[in-house]
Amino acid sequence: MQRTVPLSVAIIVMLLAGCSAEPPPQQSRIYSMGTWVDVSIRGAPAATAESALDRVRTLLASYERDYYAWAPGQLADLNASIANGEPARVSTELAALIREAQRLSALSDGAFEPGLGALVELWGFQSPLAARSSPPSQAEIDARLAAATIGALDISGTIIVSETQNILLDLGGIAKGAAVDAIVATLLDAGIEHALVNAGGDLRAVGRSGGAGGERPWRVGIRHPRGPGLLGNIELDRNEAAFTSGDYERFFEVDGARLHHILDPATGYPISHTQAVTVIAASGTLADAAATAVFVAGPERWRATARALGVDTVLRVDADGSLEMTSSMRDRLNPAAAADSDIITPPGQDESD
Ligand code: ADP
Ligand code: MG
Repeated sequence: MQRTVPLSVAIIVMLLAGCSAEPPPQQSRIYSMGTWVDVSIRGAPAATAESALDRVRTLLASYERDYYAWAPGQLADLNASIANGEPARVSTELAALIREAQRLSALSDGAFEPGLGALVELWGFQSPLAARSSPPSQAEIDARLAAATIGALDISGTIIVSETQNILLDLGGIAKGAAVDAIVATLLDAGIEHALVNAGGDLRAVGRSGGAGGERPWRVGIRHPRGPGLLGNIELDRNEAAFTSGDYERFFEVDGARLHHILDPATGYPISHTQAVTVIAASGTLADAAATAVFVAGPERWRATARALGVDTVLRVDADGSLEMTSSMRDRLNPAAAADSDIITPPGQDESD
């Protein structure tokens, strides 16, 4: 889950000063799941924040190990069991996430399809070390298109059995959202009331950002995936998530065509009709999967797909650079300068790690 392009995972963070009576914000930057995860906590005693951040570091290490298909860990073990035709036992958390991924895949009519790991691997998008500079052949794509969907998994409790051996699970379109949710749950459990968790421009807010009077909501500036400047910013309600899927994260170009890491499960090819999709939702898991699904759904189906998934605040940037958004997004997007935002998404393309 690492990037192959100079485009960076770095983000512009402009934390506005909190109110002077409260302790200074505690910040931690952890490299995990191929991106920088920044956690800023405000309004908590230093010892409370530090111990919460320790728990977050442990948690992220487990997500990095167990939710990535191409290194030793639970998901790799599960894929090996499926390939051998054997049942596998996974953690309660992983079973719950796979069940949720199955549900969202069905609701999105297969636009979100975590069963396409063999295609992701064929295109070399699972790791920078696997990056390629030319597309695979049609015959290679066809062979992997035949793979089963995540719907072929039978999950009872924490035991997973697949109807077929022909499936490689890749949770790359949802795991970051689940990790961000788990971090937020950890912070809340530790008694933290105000925080921002930012995984390379995919983020979730806790409480308020402070500002004058201490009650200003966290503000997320949304940047156009190609150009400079902001489209506007959005104030997040308590504990909302904002996730973006974009064609600028991992890609290579062939004859001017951008071949990137979000694949159409129906054709096995990278999507070409969309540059970016941003979704605001109550959880990171939903926002992450929905951003990927709406990205894949495209110009004709994106609104229906968002509705089916139960997300109503969505912004889509078409391949021609034009913007489309739901009425809820239109109502909430304020024209604004970057300086008014706590955080900018997606990350800038001229910044480096
Ligand atoms: P990002 O990695 O930029 O946050 P996404 O959340 O959209 O982007 O996830 C993209 C990742 O999801 C890919 O790298 C791949 O591992 C996986 N993926 C690609 N296409 C699909 C798809 N149609 N459905 C589900 N997962 C996908
Ligand atoms: Mg996603």
